[in-house]
This record gives sequence, structure tokens and C-alpha cells, in this order.
Amino acid sequence: MEKKITVDGLTFVPYITKEEIEKEVKRVAAELRDDLKGGNPLFLCVLTGSFIFAADLIREVGLNDAPVAFVRYSSYEGTSSSGQVKQLMGLKEDISGRDVVIVEDIVDTGLTASLMVEDLKKRNPASIRFVTLLHKPESSKTGFKPDYVAFSIPPKFIIGYGLDLDGKVRNLKDIYVIQDQQD
Ligand code: 5GP
Repeated sequence: MEKKITVDGLTFVPYITKEEIEKEVKRVAAELRDDLKGGNPLFLCVLTGSFIFAADLIREVGLNDAPVAFVRYSSYEGTSSSGQVKQLMGLKEDISGRDVVIVEDIVDTGLTASLMVEDLKKRNPASIRFVTLLHKPESSKTGFKPDYVAFSIPPKFIIGYGLDLDGKVRNLKDIYVIQDQQD
């Protein structure tokens, strides 16, 4: 795994390796595959941060008939939540009667997740499941609990594997944590 990296003057250190990510993606995918048996699934990816996780997860779940759709929200400015959730791209697909699987990169305050689930419930899906790569339970302002979590982490700012710092470093294969927040 690579060493420390600097982005916009901030130093990040390795935190979760691509091997660990792969292992947990496989675990979550197997649970989902079981739980979705006999259902009518549709994957709903929350852009932008989840695009790499969603690509790996959806291929690993391996349900050929399940459509993939996208929504886009934004709440972060730099390294912290603005507290305001903006919907930048809404849902065009009909999800009525579908077993919707929301795929998110990270649940922090839970504001984005709870807003999205409330919004989707109005569209008559058969069910809603919420999958997230990362969960920061200590940052919750809403009590929102994702149904599937690959990694539960402390409230530290992280980057890589789809997660950005002001649009940068989404390409990194491993996950990094900001240095002064490391244990
Ligand atoms: P929430 O609405 O739960 O506070 O925040 C969800 C969104 O905030 C995530 O989809 C993600 O875009 C952003 N976010 C939260 N924590 C982090 C973090 O540690 N790193 C990065 N890069 N984005 C984060």
C-alpha cells in the first residue's frame, strides 16, 4: 500500500486497504444476494462518492435483471458537513413495486440518508434497503441506521475509493484518513 499523501495541503495516511475493502464488499454482496432472492430489485446509487463501491458491489451481487439508477446529493464543503443537503439530480425511473437498494459511500450525520429514504417512500417501492460502504455512528444527528454496512468507523475525515476532497482523489484504490485525526 502507498504511503502518506498530501492533498490541498492536508496529509492523509493509509487506513483501509483495497484487500480489506474487497473482502467486506464480498460479505455485504452475499448478504444482499440472499435477502433479495425472489424480489424485484433496483439499485439506486447516490452520486458521486458511491460510484466505485456501487460498481464493485453490483457486479459482486450478480443479479442480471436488476436495473441501476442514480440520484445525486451534496452536503459536504471541504472536510465537514455543511448541514444543508442539496439534491442535485433527482430520480427519473419508476420505482413502484421495486425492492430498492440504495447504495451510498458514507453515512455521517445521516441527513442525506434520512431525507432520501423519506422522499423515496412516497414513490411506492415494495421495500427500501440502505447499503453503505462506511458508517460514522458517532456523527449521527438523525439516529439513521443503514441496513448493511461494510465498515463502521470513528468520526474522521477519509478519502479514496470514490470519496473526495473537493473533487479530488476519488481514484485512489485504498482509503486514507486525515493525519491529525488518526488514532
Ligand atoms: P451526511 O448527510 O450523512 O452528513 O453525509 C453524507 C455525505 O457526506 C456523503 O455521501 C459524503 O459525500 C460526505 N461525507 C461524509 N463524511 C465524509 C468523509 O469522511 N469523507 C468524504 N470524502 N466525504 C464525506
